[in-house]
Amino acid sequence: MLRSLSDYREIVGDGVLSEIYKKSLKICKKHIVHINSTYQGGGVAEILPNLVSLMNDAGIDTGWRILHGDSDFFSITKKFHNALQGEKINLSKIKRRLYLENNESFSRFTHIHHDCVIIHDPQPLPLINFQRKHQPWIWRCHIDISHPNQELWDFLKSFILRYDLMIISDNEFYRKDLPIPQRVIYPSIDPLSPKNMEISEELIRKTLRKFKIPTDKPLITQVSRFDKWKDPEGVIEVFQRVKEEIDCRLVLCGSMAADDPEGMQIYNKIMNKPATKKLIQKKDLIVLTAENQILVNTLQRVSSVIIQKSLREGFGLTVTEALWKGTPVVASKVGGIPNQIIHEETGFLLQPKDYAGFARVIVNLLQDPGLCEKIGSRAKEHVRNNFLITRHLIDYLDLLGEIL
Ligand code: UDP
Repeated sequence: MLRSLSDYREIVGDGVLSEIYKKSLKICKKHIVHINSTYQGGGVAEILPNLVSLMNDAGIDTGWRILHGDSDFFSITKKFHNALQGEKINLSKIKRRLYLENNESFSRFTHIHHDCVIIHDPQPLPLINFQRKHQPWIWRCHIDISHPNQELWDFLKSFILRYDLMIISDNEFYRKDLPIPQRVIYPSIDPLSPKNMEISEELIRKTLRKFKIPTDKPLITQVSRFDKWKDPEGVIEVFQRVKEEIDCRLVLCGSMAADDPEGMQIYNKIMNKPATKKLIQKKDLIVLTAENQILVNTLQRVSSVIIQKSLREGFGLTVTEALWKGTPVVASKVGGIPNQIIHEETGFLLQPKDYAGFARVIVNLLQDPGLCEKIGSRAKEHVRNNFLITRHLIDYLDLLGEIL
């Protein structure tokens, strides 16, 4: 069933709803469009449908379009994504050409007459070159761009400069070399989506049965696409250290995103390792690739600890989701994660390569249910106050109110 703003009253309180209604009045005659490059998989596809739906419920005509790219395009933009996070890239003429051509061809059948255009991430960034711009364009970058590959950054900058404003997910991503205004807006989760809503014990049991996840031992889980920046191999390394101290089980849950062609390769690389095969055979490791919101919801509730061992992270919605469920999270101190985890208060932060540290904290948590509960309840309140969809909506209303 479609959710409306009033459904959130019980969770966020009357004051927040009245603020949203008041602020939307200012821009209620406007027509906005969001454009990204996938319906499914990853944080952006997670946020947009619910946010767009609530913007409409708040009275602002808001559309959502998906850039149609071919497989070459997505393999190039994945390389761009990696290079924006600091990897090397061979920025050949053909890559530049295909990147632009896909945007140009999408632009031929995408007519933009809106009052404001919000473009998400690098895939549709050059669309601005192929449209007659007569309204503010905002580039919403969800990636850590603090240390980009310079050559690529320079290339992308030629498009970014045409924008009226850039939104980033963390202060650390602010670019001194960009003359356009930049603004931090934190991402958010929807507490009423199937992934985050309260679910019954019965549904939890059914889901565990369906995906063959036993709970006779404590579960440690990472929910993440198979992506080198999420460091699934590092997670296995940490798990093996924990297992030397306490008998437990690791779950890696990673569905495939349509705009991430590398996922399958990384998955195969991990699955073909003899150490992984042995862990799976002994039922110490469970690897899941189903795209299923209730499965993620269940795992984030039944696991004793959620790990997020990212090497880079724009924000890390998987962290927000687990914090909201009151499950202790042990995560890397990278990107947007420290906004969500206040060390030893709402969770635990470690340097990404500190395998021993990760293992030590996880063992401690497994041995101390009281600590888990204390951390978990503070984590939930931190998310309620800062990272729910209603706050995200207010940030957009403020920004649109200023810019339009
Ligand atoms: N996700 C999912 N199933 C999976 C793996 C991930 O539904 O098997 C979701 C996850 O719950 C989260 C989003 O994909 O909502 C990932 O967002 P995040 O910001 O953590 O990382 P990104 O993939 O955007 O880098």
